[in-house]
Amino acid sequence: MSESPKTIRFFSGENIPLEMHKVRIVQKLFLPPIEERLTAVRRAGFNTFLLNTREVYLDMLTDSGTNAMSDMQLGAMMQADDAYAGSQSFERMQKAIEDVFGKRLILPVHQGRAAENILAQSFVKPGNVIPMNYHFTTTLAHIQVNGGKVVELVHDNALQIKSDNPFKGNMDIAKLRAALAKEGKNVPFIRMEASTNLIGGQPFSLANLRDVAKVAREHKIPLVLDASLIGENAYFIKLREKEFRNTSVADILSEMCEQADIVYFSSRKVSSSRGGAICTNRTDLFDHMKALVPLYEGFLTYGGMSVREIEAMAVGLHETTDESVIGQSPSFIAYLVERLEKLGVPVVTPAGGLGCHVDAMGFLPHVPQTEYPAGALAAAFYLISGVRGMERGTVSSIRDENGNDVLADVELLRLAFPRRVFTLSQVKYVEDRLHWLYTKRHLVGGLRFVEEPPVLRFFMGRMEATSDWPEKLVKAFRADFGDSL
Ligand SMILES: *Cc1c(COP(=O)(O)O)cnc(C)c1O
Repeated sequence: MSESPKTIRFFSGENIPLEMHKVRIVQKLFLPPIEERLTAVRRAGFNTFLLNTREVYLDMLTDSGTNAMSDMQLGAMMQADDAYAGSQSFERMQKAIEDVFGKRLILPVHQGRAAENILAQSFVKPGNVIPMNYHFTTTLAHIQVNGGKVVELVHDNALQIKSDNPFKGNMDIAKLRAALAKEGKNVPFIRMEASTNLIGGQPFSLANLRDVAKVAREHKIPLVLDASLIGENAYFIKLREKEFRNTSVADILSEMCEQADIVYFSSRKVSSSRGGAICTNRTDLFDHMKALVPLYEGFLTYGGMSVREIEAMAVGLHETTDESVIGQSPSFIAYLVERLEKLGVPVVTPAGGLGCHVDAMGFLPHVPQTEYPAGALAAAFYLISGVRGMERGTVSSIRDENGNDVLADVELLRLAFPRRVFTLSQVKYVEDRLHWLYTKRHLVGGLRFVEEPPVLRFFMGRMEATSDWPEKLVKAFRADFGDSL
């Protein structure tokens, strides 16, 4: 029997991703009028992180901790074993990790960045260099805090917005060899990130991961896999990599993890729950890290998580082997990306995991990068739609020693698709409002910082518009939509 991803065909010939779940618990949503949204976005300093959900219609900020949970997960949370040490809940989680990722030694942590803190404190020394396909914001911050540097080794074409490269998250092996030849002794580990978050949720191929692992073994350098978004990457391997078309998702996941010496993840993403973990089969690496867990997180059998989260994580991990769970968000993203492309709205292709990524420099070519086009687009889109996306561009970057912005490689508005949360009519609303904004793009101007934290500034920083463009946009909206919300 062929196990390649299944689509259900429509008589009409239309390509519609069909939900393989039904809604049993709902949350009421609000869509405040655009005038209230203008007040809200100003109050939030044009930073979508600082909006409240009462002010937001569709919350597409992130998939972190926002994936819909299954009835099985909620059921499991009711039979959690409250114990400081030796909880049965921890044993169930341990078994789930061993079943799905094939690793026996587990360090539980409260979320993904806590794993990164422990990894960086354990292995990164001042002057070290960490080669990776591409960084994630919190990964980079923890490596830098410990005096290390990151080198990014994706292929040059990975940052092209429009592409038909199915695996933009691949590491360039020639670049890896060159980096190791230059910095070999200074490299504590090599890191691969599944569904490479900051370049548009782009996957790597299993063939590439095998090649990276081979080079790592030759140099006796541990390979670390950030598996926060591994489910969607495994789905793309099945969909796009010929060799694995008939391989089960479970087998793809375990083959991926087998390549790595250490696997870590945010459970807020991968298992539609909370928490996270670091896991390995190497006792030496495990022993080197484990003392930091009781220091920063909690005892070794809960790591800062509640037992209920641990139970939800165990069930959620098993559910990541279900193609209809991990394929739901990529299939909705592919639908929206295809529609937007037809309308001429610039988006990252091929469609990836995690979200639909709108190219802000293509959308707002008149806004210079120093005025944060992706931040401006995120604010403008919230203003005209009530949909909250996230800036993934220079606002999410840092400043250099001289205080100048380090301009991001790409300026993206990310519209996240948490798993099984939105309906197709909501996706059509997003398409409609983005299309409208594209026709009014000349009205959107830039932003400047008024309050700028020194670390991870995108979370708490506040900005203002460089002109009265938000008011102009409100006027144009009213002219076209009348009294519509
Ligand atoms: C979200 C994320 C993290 C950090 O996880 P948190 O649980 O948010 O701390 C690390 N790596 C990747 C790839 C992520 O997407």
